[in-house]
Amino acid sequence: MTIKMLSYFILLTIMTSCSLPGAEPASPTQNSLPPTPNIPPVSSTGAPTMSGPADILLLNGTILTMDESNPAAQAIAIRGDTILAVGSDSEISNLQDARTQVIDLNGSTLMPGFMDAHNHTFNERLLNGQDPLPDQQTTIQFGITTEAEFFVDESILNKLKALAEAGNLRMRVNAYLLYTNNCGEIIGDWWKAYQPNQQIAPNLYIRGIKIFSDGGSCKAPAMSVDYPGGGKGDLFFTQDQLNQIVAEVQAAGFQAAIHALGDRALEQAQNAIAFALNGQPNTYRHRIEHNATIRPELLPRYSEIGIVPVIFGAYSTCIRTTDESKNFKYILGEEYGAWDWPWRALVDANPGLPIAWQSDYPIFPTNNPLYHLWGMVTRKEVNTDGSICDPPDWVKVGALHVEEALPMMTRNSAYALFFEDEVGTLEAGKFADLVILNDNPLQVESDSLKDISVLMTMIGGNVEYCATGFESLCPSASPSDVGADSPVATASASLSDSPASNAIDGNLETVWNSGAEPEQWIQIDLGNPTTVSAIRLHVAQSPEGETTHQVWLGADANNLTLIHEFRGPTNDSGILEFILPSPITNVQFIKIVTIQSPSWVAWREIEIK
Ligand SMILES: [Zn+2]
Repeated sequence: MTIKMLSYFILLTIMTSCSLPGAEPASPTQNSLPPTPNIPPVSSTGAPTMSGPADILLLNGTILTMDESNPAAQAIAIRGDTILAVGSDSEISNLQDARTQVIDLNGSTLMPGFMDAHNHTFNERLLNGQDPLPDQQTTIQFGITTEAEFFVDESILNKLKALAEAGNLRMRVNAYLLYTNNCGEIIGDWWKAYQPNQQIAPNLYIRGIKIFSDGGSCKAPAMSVDYPGGGKGDLFFTQDQLNQIVAEVQAAGFQAAIHALGDRALEQAQNAIAFALNGQPNTYRHRIEHNATIRPELLPRYSEIGIVPVIFGAYSTCIRTTDESKNFKYILGEEYGAWDWPWRALVDANPGLPIAWQSDYPIFPTNNPLYHLWGMVTRKEVNTDGSICDPPDWVKVGALHVEEALPMMTRNSAYALFFEDEVGTLEAGKFADLVILNDNPLQVESDSLKDISVLMTMIGGNVEYCATGFESLCPSASPSDVGADSPVATASASLSDSPASNAIDGNLETVWNSGAEPEQWIQIDLGNPTTVSAIRLHVAQSPEGETTHQVWLGADANNLTLIHEFRGPTNDSGILEFILPSPITNVQFIKIVTIQSPSWVAWREIEIK
């Protein structure tokens, strides 16, 4: 994509050696965050602008912000991809001007988009050579706006990156890079080529490192007691080995995300995190995935060590209550019921700890967050024949309240993904990632939670899903997009098969090529006055070498201002980025002038936010 909003600029870190070899930092004011221990490695965009006008107002609603300092509101204002303000109808109405779209929510419930802290939505399809995009569509329809991929090796990462660069990632996708496979075999240190919290493509982020410590999909979860069929399951490492692995991940500045299903694995994972942290606060936000079997004495250790637990939603009650359980060798009996997904006890033993939700879809059959919410609150499950399995008392004791589960599915998952400055609550300055529901989960009978449906999903201010029949709740494309003339590119020279329009067509494969040595220029007419906050250039160049490129912009093509000069070694497919110290309004023309290059002057793509 080109002259559209580029929300991924919001969390921009300086491109590292792989994409921007030696180019000068864009600006001394740009966020530049090497992975420094003890500093949470997330940047935010700074203070939000609170003044109007807004592009979109959503009024007269029941807004669950998930922001503890301002939990309930009536209305929300959005500009571009960002929340401008959240408040009462009268406060928010002040942010209106003639261009603002005003939506009457008519009392509907609006809340942050759901955040799934651990799943396999894309990676499972990509591993199997299938198209993941239909699953993405369903996921968005379910109201999930951010998710995390938990089985990402180099090949999957490259496939995700290709999807992202083609503009096909419509959700925010966080990649957890594999240290081991699911059988505990170490894959190598390929992940060290990346940085924690690095954004590598639109909507695609590198987060932490995934380590399998016990069985599950390969072999069996490691228990401290015998399975009914014999054996205690499989640990993949000794305590010392896992200690060293977590320490290595931490030394590289990364969050460790350790798969631990059985209580013996869980204890080992807790020990390894405690070893690596050595008494320091868990600024790396090391996480333990699944936590399926927690021996009671291990419950308070999450808070003591500072570990982020990531837990399942809908419980597999049917297996526990039917004869089917006899077919599963690795299910413990009722006598260990208190250890099994004990979310009630986990919350009670760790007040204030951010516990995050995972669907683990498609390992588990659905990622519908309202179904998972229902499962966490009722511990019921819909059986394959459509009947409902009621939990026996020893299962029911693990149930949570809606008020506890919803933060896990939004702001706590944001925390687990180092994303809480951008998403997870509805607050001014965060991305406009939100859903409208047909009922209020805080008001309905718990049995009805699974029947709540999503009427609209918005990601970064764009409506990504609108339920049929509810179009009146769904803003159309933002006013700055509507009625804007299409951008037009012109250039000092072009090869006949490489016109200037190739630099703004959203395709990195097609190139504008001047067919000439410097000095050459390309100019983009945005079609109408626009606020510009960042520019990204995709290099087309052969041979590689020293280049100098100037960025000029302004309202009048004959009176442009030089705002930046890139100078340094560049190579083909590299990326040059510049974030303006503050956004410039009323820009219609942007001109890139290449002063120096060993190559014919050319660009793959010019992106403007
Ligand atoms: Zn998983």
